[in-house]
Amino acid sequence: MEIQDKYLSLEGKVAIITGAGSGIGLAVSQLYVKYGAKVAMVDISDKCQEEADKIGDSAKFFKCNVSSEADVKATVEAVKAAFGRIDILVNNAGIIVRKTVLDTTEEEWDRCLDIGLKGVFLFSKHTVPIMIEQGGGVIVNTASGAAIKGVPDSAPYNAYKGGVAALTRGMAVDFGKYNIRVNCVCPGDIITPMLISEGIQTGKITTADPKTPEEKEAMEKFLESCGSYRPLRRIATAEQIAYTFLFLATDMSVYATGGSFVVDGGRCS
Ligand code: NAD
Repeated sequence: MEIQDKYLSLEGKVAIITGAGSGIGLAVSQLYVKYGAKVAMVDISDKCQEEADKIGDSAKFFKCNVSSEADVKATVEAVKAAFGRIDILVNNAGIIVRKTVLDTTEEEWDRCLDIGLKGVFLFSKHTVPIMIEQGGGVIVNTASGAAIKGVPDSAPYNAYKGGVAALTRGMAVDFGKYNIRVNCVCPGDIITPMLISEGIQTGKITTADPKTPEEKEAMEKFLESCGSYRPLRRIATAEQIAYTFLFLATDMSVYATGGSFVVDGGRCS
């Protein structure tokens, strides 16, 4: 594919994407490669190796637990050694625990925040010095609608996603002078293994684009179970949300920093 529009190109760029073995991170990895980037696909799961192999020479798997500083430091060094530079960091790895404050254990709370918030801190801490040395860079964090509005039965998730959006704003202020832009995406319901296996669910959703009466009924049941109104009456695919990550990584968003980009089908309440 020949890129005509320089603002839309990722040609010559190297991106680290965490949680790249599945769902949103995988779709972002595929899309970034399509637009010219080389991608370091970071995940704790070995399944990511298969996905990197499918993408081809522009993708490389790096096994890493984002909540371990030793792992993160070694991974950032390995990415730099493999690709020579790091232009884009997508802090996307995250988990959800479907519990209120009353039911959440201390261990569940710590695990959620360690992966979803401390992971953003650690990867940013070890990548930003390389971006400064290179004269700039881009960080895109995956927050959530939970950063803006309450999600039921998701206490630690609400807490750390709010933290991701706040850390995004803070890093934008700190690193703007180094020509580093920092933004976050706040997705609504995206059909990924996380949503299907751990989300509020009917167990029947198989597509973001329901066509049969059964699929439409399952979607309506799911939307009703969410406890808030979704004007578009559907959920999105990982590919559909990945385009927002493309926008934020390219010069299409060259003047955007510190922003929380809400892409949630117009969720009300
Ligand atoms: P997913 O479960 O499909 O993918 C998450 C990936 O993160 C997995 O490959 C997993 O192995 C990896 N991971 C988990 N713990 C890790 C760790 N310690 N170190 C490295 N990798 C680790 O989930 P998804 O739906 O694609 O979610 C991706 C991000 O999007 C998460 O931050 C999630 O909170 C956020 N999000 C998802 C939705 C949704 O509806 N799916 C909505 C809003 C925000």
